[in-house]
Amino acid sequence: MKILILPGDGIGTEVAACAAGVLKHVVPDMELDYGLIGGSAYEATGSPLPEETKTRIATANAVLLGAVGGTRWDTLPQDKKPEAGLLGLRAHMQVFANLRPARIFQALCDASSLKGEVLSGVDLIIVRELIGGIYFGKPRGVETMPDGTRRAYNTLEYSSKEIERIAHKAFGIALKRSAKLTSVDKANVLESSRLWREVVDEIATGYPSVEVSHMYVDNCAMQLIRKPSQFDVILTQNLFGDILSDEASMVTGSLGMLPSASIGEGPGLYEPVHGSAPDIAGQDKANPIGAILSVAMMLRYSFDMEGTAHKIETAVEKVLSKGIRTLDLAAGARKIVGTQEMTDCIIQEMENT
Ligand code: NAD
Repeated sequence: MKILILPGDGIGTEVAACAAGVLKHVVPDMELDYGLIGGSAYEATGSPLPEETKTRIATANAVLLGAVGGTRWDTLPQDKKPEAGLLGLRAHMQVFANLRPARIFQALCDASSLKGEVLSGVDLIIVRELIGGIYFGKPRGVETMPDGTRRAYNTLEYSSKEIERIAHKAFGIALKRSAKLTSVDKANVLESSRLWREVVDEIATGYPSVEVSHMYVDNCAMQLIRKPSQFDVILTQNLFGDILSDEASMVTGSLGMLPSASIGEGPGLYEPVHGSAPDIAGQDKANPIGAILSVAMMLRYSFDMEGTAHKIETAVEKVLSKGIRTLDLAAGARKIVGTQEMTDCIIQEMENT
């Protein structure tokens, strides 16, 4: 198996190195390749997503990304910016399903803005359609009417094929978890949501052991704060998923803790949710856990190595419960450590178990 590591910029390089260290520890014969993306790629090649990186993706079984971006590239033309490299990468890899778990680590209950009793038992995953819907629908545009009024419009459309492929992914994930799936839409108002609901029900007949329910997006936004533990797999379209996944992530506390996966038919893309954090880059202050948990997601979703994925997650849980924290989780810490020491502690914990 070959993993392409794209460290990117800022703390991306630091957390990617830590995640690669953990990966090498748990699967020593995994081959690691390295490529450029983002601002550092632009500096070296003039492009934030060089052709050479695309060539390397073609021979990889999965891609692990750090983060991209930084103020020094903010004034570049849009297509040369680091973020254009990341969007280009997702489109190039045709990853249509974005998976964002939100799981509460008991030791971090204090880091959330919600009460401890609401957080207890939260372990959900949002499966968001990533390359369709209103962000991509055409026609789109801005125009000025003859009377001078400005008008802007976007198109929200989904085909049954797009819904089917994301629904299959979500049902497959539900089977690996507690077999409970909530499909979120706005079927009381939107035709695209009525089709979404119909197709999800059709696909559900092929997964009789999965308990399926439908929920309107406004209710879901409320339920995520009222009782997040009621959810297991949430399946939804691009726009709703974008908003709900950020809402759900706040349940868990720090941005530095959050992993993500984007998958399609080919190799998956795994990355922490956070950006390149220029304010703390190069200071050994970044929390590497989001990147390390992204490795666990890679092992689970790309290689079916549930046991090894679980081993990483358990080690993270144990280290946190000992009060060992990076600076972003300082409240309630018994010992503050840097990026590398946190990684060493997690690896040590895996060796001890
Ligand atoms: P950011 O996620 O980089 O940082 C937001 C805040 O969270 C900062 O205070 C930062 O120090 C803190 N933070 C983030 N990750 C952390 C970690 N692992 N440990 C400890 N603290 C952490 O978001 P931003 O400041 O809005 O953006 C900075 C740059 O990153 C921009 O160029 C932006 O475009 C880019 N960005 C990239 C991605 C990505 O690569 N996926 C995502 C978001 C933003």
